[in-house]
Amino acid sequence: MGSKSNYENASVIIVGAPMDFTTSFRPGARFGPQKIRETSYGLEEYSPYLDRDLSDASFYDAGDLELVFGDVQRSLEIIENAAAEIFSDEKKPLFLGGEHTITYPVLKQAYKKYKDALVLLHFDAHADLRADYLGQINSHASVIRRCGEFLGWRNIYQFGIRSGTKDEFEWGKTHTNFYPFEIIPSIAKVLPEIVGRPVYITIDIDVLDPAYACGTGTPEPGGCSPDDLIKALGMLKDFNVVGMDVVEVSPIHDSSDRTPILAAKIVREGILSFFQYPTSNI
Ligand code: MN
Ligand code: MN
Repeated sequence: MGSKSNYENASVIIVGAPMDFTTSFRPGARFGPQKIRETSYGLEEYSPYLDRDLSDASFYDAGDLELVFGDVQRSLEIIENAAAEIFSDEKKPLFLGGEHTITYPVLKQAYKKYKDALVLLHFDAHADLRADYLGQINSHASVIRRCGEFLGWRNIYQFGIRSGTKDEFEWGKTHTNFYPFEIIPSIAKVLPEIVGRPVYITIDIDVLDPAYACGTGTPEPGGCSPDDLIKALGMLKDFNVVGMDVVEVSPIHDSSDRTPILAAKIVREGILSFFQYPTSNI
């Protein structure tokens, strides 16, 4: 919905990464990007929250990457190459997952460009801080652990976390800026710390209560409401967001489509909140 017709004139590039090869519980996120696109047509282009309209925004939907089923390493390379191209063209990527593992190659490229100034805001039910999952180091359960290894732990802010091992919670509390459970008070607290810094936002849809977003691979009861998340995105309005992803939408687990519709709305609010004037603050 609302996509410009070509890559060259757009500042924000939407790319689908239909990968769910390391999903630990219920696979299906590979169908996320296409369903988010399809259901986006049920929304308006105008956001009454922000009083802004997608017709004034400059973004292009480049479609889905062709990934190699079952080949995690090669698929991550393809995603990283796509992210590299977008960053080198002075544009901002908005990736649709797919499993959470896709954040790692995109963030690597963001880090290559923005270096130690870069901040990661991570919204998720899960800490994703495992050293590995059943020996797999590039797993959706360890993606933030991988990101911290190059980004630096103090540059990571985690919100909404309510599930993980005892070790992951210990690691979070002693390494990242770790804000479990409620997201709004935590966001309000950290905003002054990240003013002016380039920000990458990763939203795992399971940060929301499964009552609102049951279409995901590892639903975790409890969690925030859509209003909380929309409010959080609004609070980041006009911050220097250089990239974003929305991951773990698994439409086959939601016959009502409420999860992909919610994801599409989050994408709309993200674009309008911080990608509205994309070149002004790079
Ligand atoms: Mn996750
Ligand atoms: Mn999660």
